[in-house]
Amino acid sequence: MTDIASLSEAPALLARAGRSAGSGPDLTQGAGGNVSVKVPGGRMLIKASGARLRDVTPTSGYALVDSGVIAGRLRRGPAGEDELSDLIKAATLPVDGLPPAKPSIETGFHSLLNSAVVHVHSVYANVLNMSEEGACAAARLFPEAVRIPYRSPGAQLCSAIAVHARPSEEQVFFLAGHGLAVSHQDVDGALALNERVNAAIRRGLSLPPYTAAPAAAGLAPHNAARLAFYGRDFMLNNVLSPDQALYCGPEALSGAAGPDVNEVLAALFYVLDCIRALGWKPRFLSADDVAYLATMTGGRYARKGKE
Ligand SMILES: [Zn+2]
Repeated sequence: MTDIASLSEAPALLARAGRSAGSGPDLTQGAGGNVSVKVPGGRMLIKASGARLRDVTPTSGYALVDSGVIAGRLRRGPAGEDELSDLIKAATLPVDGLPPAKPSIETGFHSLLNSAVVHVHSVYANVLNMSEEGACAAARLFPEAVRIPYRSPGAQLCSAIAVHARPSEEQVFFLAGHGLAVSHQDVDGALALNERVNAAIRRGLSLPPYTAAPAAAGLAPHNAARLAFYGRDFMLNNVLSPDQALYCGPEALSGAAGPDVNEVLAALFYVLDCIRALGWKPRFLSADDVAYLATMTGGRYARKGKE
């Protein structure tokens, strides 16, 4: 791993990465996804929890952490939720002129990887990540990529990635039930790798163009139509991802929906529709996985502020 920028240059690079990775609802929805940049002294800038990727600026929307300490802990073996959360909190450093910010819940795995990391909840990657057949297809399309079986965001996911992390290499991770993460030695390389992987999936699976949900009070018409097709009970009882568990509860499906809910729902319906069109089967989270997320919802993995 090489430090790619001085602390004074890094915020502008991080903001550029956030704007690019967060440019479309096909790649990130709500406050999902995150970007990070390593700086000298074993430190790292990372998107703040609850911030949208495209809203990261050189003076807001991110936190500075001692990533060396966090990575060192994760390399020693699996960490507990409270332990990792407390460690990240203790490793968060003040920055002159920057309002205090809570680092992303995914700070742990960013700290383990190469100098620039882009993590998105890409609908294209999630056709692979949220289907029974997707693992084989991902292995065929991206033989070098690492596939991580579903793990809850936070200590479980970071501990699973720690086993495969190579801090000096370019890497592509498919995170089952969740998203895509790529690492590279510099920001441009990470953004290009992210784009390349997403384009290769669209091409390899002949996926249709993405239909974004327009801003709407309540459910957007497209989402209401797809909800009617799949059924409210189906969507409440079959959970594809942590985003669905946290954003798409009974109230949200009844129309108490903000823009984040419409973005998350449109992404879920795209993934479900693509899986159907391919003749594949969706792979849902287990009851235990959903119950575990619920225990986190009451704590630090709060709805709409999780990343
Ligand atoms: Zn994520």
